[in-house]
Amino acid sequence: MEKLIITAALTGNVVTKEMNKHIPITEAEIIEDIIKCKNAGASVVHIHGRDKEGKPTARKDVYEKILNKIRSKNIDVVTQLSTGARAGENTAEYRGQMLALKTEMASLAVGSSNFLDRVNANSFELIESLSSKMINNNIKPEIEVFDSAMISNAQWLLKKGVLKMPLHFNLVMNVPGSIKGTPKNLLFLVESLPKHCTWTVSGIGNAHIPMITMAIILGGHVRVGIEDTIMYNDTIKATNEMLVKRAARIAKELRREVADVDETRKILGL
Ligand code: ZN
Repeated sequence: MEKLIITAALTGNVVTKEMNKHIPITEAEIIEDIIKCKNAGASVVHIHGRDKEGKPTARKDVYEKILNKIRSKNIDVVTQLSTGARAGENTAEYRGQMLALKTEMASLAVGSSNFLDRVNANSFELIESLSSKMINNNIKPEIEVFDSAMISNAQWLLKKGVLKMPLHFNLVMNVPGSIKGTPKNLLFLVESLPKHCTWTVSGIGNAHIPMITMAIILGGHVRVGIEDTIMYNDTIKATNEMLVKRAARIAKELRREVADVDETRKILGL
């Protein structure tokens, strides 16, 4: 079996310091967590920008400062920037402004779904615009799948030439308003993917440990982090480092080796 890629989803758009004081919000906190997560086994970092008040933002300068810091500190890690729908104005221009920066990956939601507080609105026009920015800037999209129809959408975009093979999917399971994180649903999604594609899973909340364990067994990859899981267990608030360490430990128990950064680049074709 291929080695396991661990992605650390450090910050997200939703979690606040009040919900989990360990969440990295400032540039310095994000860099500190990237170093810790990399040392614990993560090879990809999924980054969200926050403004001075801690609110989600797609602002290019916010992302630029983080990327510059990663470079100046010589941290070798695959950076994946979020273009998610919760960081402000819902246009491709606003959401995709950081795609002008040098990054190896970016997230791309390929359909609409419900969040608890709003619609996760991603029209085909918006998806195509974000996707072409990524392709033109040599950025590999991570295709965010919140429901099974989004796999069909990705296949349609592939046929249209908007996306290019091999695709890399993130199966985002158990977001309220999206597909539940159950073993049956994960098997169904994995079996629905186009051939020769890679996939990772994000298990939100209680679905976290079952979904990442299944992904490790099935040959997929895993995403962990405070963006997906505020709690480490019933009583302890998670840190990003703890979540990466646990994923690496489960992989070790299941005899799946963890990929380093260069191996990850090879697996993902970066
Ligand atoms: Zn995210």
